[in-house]
Amino acid sequence: MAMINKDISNKLFHSLVRRANAATCSTFPPAPQPVASTNDGDKIFELEDTKSLFASVPTGKLMHAAAMLNVTAVEPVVDLSLWMMNSRLMEVGLVRSAVMGTIKHTAYNHFVAGSDTVETGQTVRRLWDSGLRGMLDYGLEHAIDNESCDKATQQLIKTAEYTQSLPPSSVSFVVVKVTAICPVYLLRRVSDLLRWEYRNSSFKLPWKQQTLPIFSENSPFYHTLQQPAPLTTEEEHDLELAHQRLQIICDKSFEGNVPVVIDAEDTSIQPAIDYMTYWASVKYNELQRPMIFGTIQAYLKDAGDRMSLTKKAADKMGLPVGFKLVRGAYMSSERKLAHSLGVESPIHNTINDTHDCFNGCATFMLGEVSNRPGGLILATHNLDSGKLVARKAREYGITKDSEKLEFASLYGMAEAMTFGLRNAGFGVSKYLPYGPIDQIMPYLLRRAEENKGLLSSSNLDRQLMMKELKRRMKAYFGQGMTVSENQFLNQKLTP
Ligand SMILES: Cc1cc2nc3c(=O)[nH]c(=O)nc-3n(C[C@H](O)[C@H](O)[C@H](O)COP(=O)(O)OP(=O)(O)OC[C@H]3O[C@@H](n4cnc5c(N)ncnc54)[C@H](O)[C@@H]3O)c2cc1C
Repeated sequence: MAMINKDISNKLFHSLVRRANAATCSTFPPAPQPVASTNDGDKIFELEDTKSLFASVPTGKLMHAAAMLNVTAVEPVVDLSLWMMNSRLMEVGLVRSAVMGTIKHTAYNHFVAGSDTVETGQTVRRLWDSGLRGMLDYGLEHAIDNESCDKATQQLIKTAEYTQSLPPSSVSFVVVKVTAICPVYLLRRVSDLLRWEYRNSSFKLPWKQQTLPIFSENSPFYHTLQQPAPLTTEEEHDLELAHQRLQIICDKSFEGNVPVVIDAEDTSIQPAIDYMTYWASVKYNELQRPMIFGTIQAYLKDAGDRMSLTKKAADKMGLPVGFKLVRGAYMSSERKLAHSLGVESPIHNTINDTHDCFNGCATFMLGEVSNRPGGLILATHNLDSGKLVARKAREYGITKDSEKLEFASLYGMAEAMTFGLRNAGFGVSKYLPYGPIDQIMPYLLRRAEENKGLLSSSNLDRQLMMKELKRRMKAYFGQGMTVSENQFLNQKLTP
C-alpha cells in the first residue's frame, strides 16, 4: 500500500514539475536588471523576495538543487555515502558503476560545471545569460613529477584558450593551482628555503627572482627547523620549468583578456606558491589593473599583516595587486601539524577571530582600491561578510563597471547570496570546477562534508528554494489545483 501511495505521489509530483517546467520561460520573468544604488544598511541586497531572487532559475533546476541540498542535510545519508566511497566495495565493478552513476546524476550535476570544456562552456553561457560570470577551474591533482605537471599545463592551456570562444567577459578568471604545475616536493623545498632566508639575512638564494613580501614577523616558521640544503641543479631546473608553465598559462589566458587567480593551499607549501604568484604579478600586472590574483586565507593569524605588507611593497613599485580573500580550507590539518610539533597553531583561536580578520582584510582592500588600481575577489558563502562588503563597496562608490570587486562562490552553493548580490548590481562569479567524475571525486567529497547537516551554510538556500518552489506552484496552478494536489504540494514543499 505504501508503495502504491509513493508511486501515485511520485507521478503527481512529476506531472506538476512537467507542467511548471513547460511554463518556466514564459511565466517567470528574466533576470532582473541591477537596481539603482541605495544606502539602506542591511537591506543592501534582498533575500526575502524569492520571486526576483530565483527569477533566472528554471523550475526543474530549482527542484534538483533543492532536492540535492535536502539530501545533503541528512547527515546519516552523507555519512553512509562517504563511507561507501572509501570502502573496498568500490573495488567491485558493478557496485562502482552503480555508485558512480548515482553520483553523476546527483552531486556531480549539482556541484560540477561539466566533464570537459564544451559542457562547461554551456554552463558558462547559462550563467552569463542570468547575469553571472564563471571562474574556470579544471580539477587537477597534486603533481608529483614534471610529466604530471606538463599534462596539467596542457589542460590549463586548453582551458585558457577555450575562454576565447565564450562570450567576452563571461569568464572572469582562469583558476590555477600551482600544486598542479610544480611538483609538490619542490614547493616544500622552496618554501623551506624562503623561510630560512627570511630569518637569516646572510642566507642567499641565487635562483630567487623579483617578487613581493611573502612573510610577516608573525608567520609560522616551525616547518623549517634547520638550515635546508640549497636547491640542486636539477631542482633549480625544475623550478624554472614551473615558472615557464605558469608563464605559458598566463600568456594564453591574457590573449583572451582573462586574468588568472592562483589558489592557496596549506602553510607547508604556501610560501613557494606566494613566491611564484608575486613573481607573476611583478611580471604581468598592468598599470591600470592586476592580471594575477593571489589568495589570502583569513583564518591565518598572519593574514592581515601579510596582506598589508605585500600591498605596501607593490604600491612602492607602482604595481596594482589583486587578492582573492577566503577564510581557508585546511584548518584541521594545520592545527594537527602544529599540535604534533608542540607549537602554536597558525589558525586563529576562534571562529570569531577568523570572521574579524576576513572582514578586516576585505575592508582594508576596499579602501585601498577605492581610488587606486587593484582588485579584490570576495570568495565566501558567509552572508554577514557579503552584506558588510556590499555596504562598504557602496560607501566607497565601487561599482561593477570599475572591475575592482568580484563576489565569488562555489558552483551549486550560496545561491541566494549569489542572486541577491547580482540583483543589487554587483559583479558575481561562480567558481566552476570541471573535469571527469573520477578526477573531481575528492572535490565532491569535500562539498558533501561541507554541506552536511541542518546547520550548514546551505540551509538558507534550502529554505528559500523551497519557499520559491511553493510560490511558483501556487502561482501557476492557482485555483486550478485539485484538493489532493494542493495538499500534496503543501506537504512536499514546506521547509
Ligand atoms: C570561490 C571560492 C574559492 C576558494 N578558494 C580557496 C583557496 O584557494 N584556498 C582555500 O584554502 N580555500 C578556498 N576556498 C574555501 C574557503 O577557504 C572556505 O573553506 C569556505 O569558503 C568556507 O568559508 P566561508 O567564508 O564561506 O564562511 P563560513 O562558513 O562562515 O566560515 C567557515 C570557515 O571559518 C573558518 N573557521 C571555522 N571554524 C573555525 C574556528 N574554530 N577557528 C578559526 N576559524 C574557523 C574556516 O576557515 C572555515 O572554512 C574557496 C572558497 C570559495 C567560495
